[in-house]
Amino acid sequence: MYDLIVHNAHVYPDFRTGTPAPAASMAITGGRVSELGVAADAPARERLDADGAIVLPGFVDCHTHLCFAGNRMDEHAARLAGASYADIAAKGGGIRATVRAVDQATEQQLVDQSLPRLQALMREGATTVEIKSGYGLSVANELKQLRAIRRLGETGGVRVTPTFLALHALPEGVPAEKYVRQVIEETLPAVARESLADSVDVFCEHIAFGVADMLAVFERARELGLACRAHTDQLSNLGGTRAAAEFGVLSCDHLEYIRTEDIAAMAANGTVAVLLPGAYYCLRESQQPPVSELREAGVPMALATDLNPGTSPVASPLAILHLASTLFGLHADEAVAGLTRHGAHALGRDDLGTLNPGARADFTIWDVAGPEFFTYQLGGIRPRNVYFEGTPA
Ligand SMILES: [Zn+2]
Repeated sequence: MYDLIVHNAHVYPDFRTGTPAPAASMAITGGRVSELGVAADAPARERLDADGAIVLPGFVDCHTHLCFAGNRMDEHAARLAGASYADIAAKGGGIRATVRAVDQATEQQLVDQSLPRLQALMREGATTVEIKSGYGLSVANELKQLRAIRRLGETGGVRVTPTFLALHALPEGVPAEKYVRQVIEETLPAVARESLADSVDVFCEHIAFGVADMLAVFERARELGLACRAHTDQLSNLGGTRAAAEFGVLSCDHLEYIRTEDIAAMAANGTVAVLLPGAYYCLRESQQPPVSELREAGVPMALATDLNPGTSPVASPLAILHLASTLFGLHADEAVAGLTRHGAHALGRDDLGTLNPGARADFTIWDVAGPEFFTYQLGGIRPRNVYFEGTPA
């Protein structure tokens, strides 16, 4: 006896390069997919006629900074008026503006302000959302942000995976060496003690932290049993991607400036490439990540919204599918794979992002002609239903 059978459907269990073959039905038991192509009249407690609609795995948004206070609309206007990222930072804007807003917010205010952003992603079919800290900078404020993220995870209908963004920006007036030591000796152990994060992330960039600091944080994170990920080579090539891949991170994210040797290191170490076309678009960048080389090397490409107040205020996984296609040239099945199974791989999960038997029954039902529609039409699309672990989200 199954819990639920979805029938009269086109179930796309999995996406990768090539044409996925849809199944006509799917059976669910205990919150997981138990069988594809099951007979529509097989015994089940509940039955859902999809009316010929398409059924996809729930989206996995594997890279967001959606837990913050305030907004940075002023900065957007300044950029339009010609200010550079560096100009804005010099005037106390940028990440530091959000750090101040997070400092002034209570944990409850962080939850209240961030929940609508999480709900926006859910409305478009996200069933797993990674959320990073990184706007606290002090031990107390990073923990406050991570506790707010944990509470966002209690929303229901969505799985939140928390990441401690250990090195994002320097607090004002604190030398880098002192700050990195504080992260390694105080913040990381405190985060691990309260089990507030699944993984640790570092912004490795010429305007942020170098490769040696990144690796020092990763070593400590690994000792504490936390997975590692990195923002690398977004604005310049520091060698961060190669070093992170060789260390054994789950993913390297951004990657606009990676070179052939970085791609080889990712391919050799099974590192996921997380592409973030929202930031590329909002910053009006011109250096694209080398998608065709990544594709040729067989590096899995994930996609994410990078939802954050400064460089990617994009609360729309569907917009990301479209941007990945129009700006980076991803095929429709690559784009959907990026927001499903490869997004799950970037989180170290193989039970998410597919509807193969055994996977979590997180799925969405859409009245569109096929997955190609998402890279074709921008806007005006919503899932008819979203299911989380086999029940309506
Ligand atoms: Zn980011």
